[in-house]
Amino acid sequence: MTGRLDELFALARSTRGFMPDEEGVALYEAARRAGEAAEARRPGTPVFVEIGAWCGKSTIYLGAAAEATGAVLFSVDHHHGSEENQPGWEHHDPDLVDPADGRIDTLPHWRRSIAAARLEGVVVGVVGDSPTVASCWTAPLEFCFVDGGHGDEPAWADYRGWAPLVATGGLLAIHDVFPDPADGGRPPYELWRDAVSSGEWAEEAACGSLRVLRRVRPSGA
Ligand code: SAH
Ligand code: MG
Repeated sequence: MTGRLDELFALARSTRGFMPDEEGVALYEAARRAGEAAEARRPGTPVFVEIGAWCGKSTIYLGAAAEATGAVLFSVDHHHGSEENQPGWEHHDPDLVDPADGRIDTLPHWRRSIAAARLEGVVVGVVGDSPTVASCWTAPLEFCFVDGGHGDEPAWADYRGWAPLVATGGLLAIHDVFPDPADGGRPPYELWRDAVSSGEWAEEAACGSLRVLRRVRPSGA
């Protein structure tokens, strides 16, 4: 089993993306705790959701936790990149552009990553706009990872759409939370602050810019 985990971590490390190794392991460990707690708490398959997959780096860390705990990970992305991934922006990668239409297309890369990791049995790709998917979603989430668009509007839309769907006892992980504005953009930090001050969440873990919260009170209660 350790061999399998080493294999998955090595693959995740070599996959392109925006998840430092240490934070990826912390992400895996948090999802694993969520899956194990869910197994003990209720029958059925624990549901994990990831918002923002890019080429599958964080997906492999989360898929490893899903595999270990009998969960299913739904990985949501329209695969055309965020604002900050478009040409002229900081996180653009020209070889992800589809020559047919000149747009970023990370889906083929993501699929290859998941196939290479042999995680297709536990990872389901959901290709589309995250708030649209959230608006139709009803299954309670044991684990939700928010790492989609980092601008004001997309980050808040993800938080407002997905955080209420996390089950009591389930975990919400937010990436790129930077208390010091010199380190990065504000929105992920601001929505993390909102969650902490809402009284619905307890701080569960932190690693680098990754913050993990546990739902202690139902949404809006
Ligand atoms: N978690 C990834 C990085 C994600 S980058 C890693 O570990 O490397 C952010 C991703 O969010 C991009 O792939 C972008 O396509 C996606 N995204 C941005 N806005 C979105 C939206 N409204 N709906 C779905 N996906 C979105
Ligand atoms: Mg990120």
